[in-house]
Amino acid sequence: MCGFIGIAGLPGNEVAAELYEGLIALQHRGQDAAGILSFDGKFHQRKQNGMVRDIFHAQDMEHLKGNLAIAHVRYPTVGGGAGEDAQPFYINFPFGVGMAHNGNLTNWVDLKSRKFPAANICLESSCDVEAILYAFAMGMQRTLKMDPLADRLRTAVESAFEHAKGAYSVVGILSDGALFAFRDPHGIKPCIVGRRVSAKGTEWAVASESVAFDVLGFERFRDLKNGEAFLVVPGQDPVFIQITQKKHTPCIFELVYFARPDSFLDGVSVYKARQRFGEAIAAQWIEAGLPTPDAVIPIPDSARDAALSAALALGVPYREGFIKNRYVGRTFIMPSQAQRKSSIRRKLNPIPIEFEGRTVLLIDDSIVRGNTSRKIIETARKAGASKVYFATTSPPLIAPCPYGIDMATKDDFVARNRSSEEVRIEIGADLLLYLDMERMIAAGRAKNPELTEFCTGCFTGQYPTPDAAEHLEALSAERAAMRV
Ligand code: AMP
Repeated sequence: MCGFIGIAGLPGNEVAAELYEGLIALQHRGQDAAGILSFDGKFHQRKQNGMVRDIFHAQDMEHLKGNLAIAHVRYPTVGGGAGEDAQPFYINFPFGVGMAHNGNLTNWVDLKSRKFPAANICLESSCDVEAILYAFAMGMQRTLKMDPLADRLRTAVESAFEHAKGAYSVVGILSDGALFAFRDPHGIKPCIVGRRVSAKGTEWAVASESVAFDVLGFERFRDLKNGEAFLVVPGQDPVFIQITQKKHTPCIFELVYFARPDSFLDGVSVYKARQRFGEAIAAQWIEAGLPTPDAVIPIPDSARDAALSAALALGVPYREGFIKNRYVGRTFIMPSQAQRKSSIRRKLNPIPIEFEGRTVLLIDDSIVRGNTSRKIIETARKAGASKVYFATTSPPLIAPCPYGIDMATKDDFVARNRSSEEVRIEIGADLLLYLDMERMIAAGRAKNPELTEFCTGCFTGQYPTPDAAEHLEALSAERAAMRV
């Protein structure tokens, strides 16, 4: 999972500093590396491993010239992390094009080892966007004399869709002086277009999440549709091109965990969706005849909105029982179980007075390996809770994500081949409730009737694209090899 933003500013407007602000707003989507690529007749780039604030300095903004620029934050999936895999990527021949993406190709190995060598293309990095860039370039090359630019983009994106399988949203710059974007045929990854109107004219932007627009004064124009491309030359009207379309299945885990609550994805407020998850938990809790807790306590941060609405619906107080130390890094991706477990305790510290003698309902977004919930339940008991109930705003996670959300290999999921009762015992809760799939989906799509389905592969093992299962086998072998 990664994040990107691109801006087509008015001629003469320098946009790099704005992209920096946009990246800061998207930092939650990737803390491993970041980069900005700008264009003022030629490309200028800075990218490196690290956090956005540590990579870019005032002199970089002077060097990153131009009114067209794209930027990226990277979240490594398996095997990644090297500096040369930081994005954006660009080529200058046979024409100039720069690109950044969010997502994962399921046929990258086949492209790298077979299809591209046959076309004399040698991929240098292990970053998927390089493959998309070359697939795009192969199409573009067939169009060099074609006009207008929108037709050339169409051919290039068709070529990208033909070669690159999986889930991806892409933002890019053409050296003709245009910003473009496209979203995969299933629209699994988010991609939104923004607009900023001033007395001087209209500027356009594209981003993974609308929160990047808020900080820059852009309004949400609309989400790209699945299989759709967008093109804008600064100062001109943009063009939307529907290239192909399969069933639109955006990733529901964006709403559950990944996106910021102040974003809108496919017209759905993430914050409101999480509130509805909480109401749905409360309804399910009551329908199941489970005992009313003394208080509802969220596992910060992603479960806060849901816990608040669940507490209201259950008619019990909402309490902050755990304080998160935001300077402890990501426990989730630490290599060993022992490291993951000890950092969870350092990351979440209890406020004992909220637990002493109380029956508490803890709400989290999800249970993956079960480390967090087990440790948190143990901590709540040590802090004096008389009973600890646990609920999640999603159903049991049982299958890895082939599309770039780092989760675990299939054997790591605590809910795989275990009943809900067995998971309850594993994590040490007095009661465990997983939000039903139907209720989660209904809450996710409530405000956008056009959304009929989501990608729910991590809950079902059924994925929208055909070669996802093969890809996961390869990934799991790679992880096993890394462990030895
Ligand atoms: P675990 O301890 O493995 O059960 O992880 C569950 C916790 O990790 C939950 O609190 C989630 O908020 C969080 N989580 C779930 N998926 C991810 C992910 N892909 N990356 C980072 N954290 C995650």
